[in-house]
Amino acid sequence: MFEKLALIGIGLIGSSIARATQLKGLAKTIAISTRKPETLDEARQLGLGNSYSLDPAEAVRDADLVILCTPVGAYEAVMTQIAGALAPGAILTDVGSVKQHVIDVVGPHVPAGVHFIPGHPLAGTEHSGPASGFPALFTGRWCVLTPTDDVDSVAVARLTAFWGALGSDVEVMDAAHHDLVLAITSHVPHLIAYNIVGTVADLETATQSEVIKFSASGFRDFTRIAASDPVMWRDVFLTNRDAVLEMLGRFLEDLSQLQRAVRVGDGPAMEALFTRTREIRRSIITAGQETAAADFGRPHGDGALPGGGATATGTSGAAPVPPPIDTPEIYYREHGGGEDA
Ligand code: NAP
Repeated sequence: MFEKLALIGIGLIGSSIARATQLKGLAKTIAISTRKPETLDEARQLGLGNSYSLDPAEAVRDADLVILCTPVGAYEAVMTQIAGALAPGAILTDVGSVKQHVIDVVGPHVPAGVHFIPGHPLAGTEHSGPASGFPALFTGRWCVLTPTDDVDSVAVARLTAFWGALGSDVEVMDAAHHDLVLAITSHVPHLIAYNIVGTVADLETATQSEVIKFSASGFRDFTRIAASDPVMWRDVFLTNRDAVLEMLGRFLEDLSQLQRAVRVGDGPAMEALFTRTREIRRSIITAGQETAAADFGRPHGDGALPGGGATATGTSGAAPVPPPIDTPEIYYREHGGGEDA
């Protein structure tokens, strides 16, 4: 479908795109560029592309599809390096978790004749780096594109077909709307997870060890989200501030109401809310965005985690282990992956 795909940044998302593109034959060649020599070497050893360079301008030369896969905070610096080397007619896109900011910082650098179509695959895990990617990451997940009105519709159709071939369903929407929706579905939940795990980190040592020991009561699911990449999430909150503050404001109002219900012992109010939230969970399962497996599909009975993790008794202390190479998607869906950013 494409002659040359250039990936700038080759972590979880970039390497998953590389693997899926190779598997499905969507580009004749893949050029990879990243900042650190050791990351580039890792990508080379994993065989993720056909050419490797620390110079992003070299990677994008003659590419008809260029995808920025670095943290959003690096985009502007990358654009100053690659703008002059982008080929006329090329599609330039990205995978960043915020979209209006991307349009603001990338847009001014895009040369005439290059089709800039911001994108965001709603797929990911809490793992980072080239080795953490897997080709099925985008299967059955949404990819949102936020082209501005003046963008060539043929280019949008080509990029839509590319993401479709990677296994995603594509939705086109306005960038500001994307940022608001993602603020409540992803950014605020991550903020809450970072906060609750941070609260535990501040507890005195004895209480902290009890929390870790009994973490299966719910806390450990927050710890998975709070293990997400610190730099990437710093950039999300630096670049989607207004939408996050808007949704956080609503969240805090609702939390105050819930706090009052607990304080005055308003059982009917709590039961009504918890019934409504259970319905939301059911509709997410019906929409195919989650399975109905109990306890997020963690193995019970004698089915221990690969590498000796949780058992039926819940006495796990083991760190997460990498996915078995032939079933990575199942591993991530069943063992706490699939987190959107
Ligand atoms: P990652 O695994 O940490 O990989 C980031 C890549 O960017 C690495 O190749 C890194 O290379 C490179 N990089 C970092 N800082 C850079 C800089 N200042 N200049 C140039 N290259 C730099 O991250 P990721 O999870 O793939 O995320 C990449 C993008 O995908 C982000 O914009 C994020 O918002 C978006 N996204 C993430 C998820 C998710 O769940 N993780 C989901 C959807 C979208 P070096 O090692 O060489 O520094």
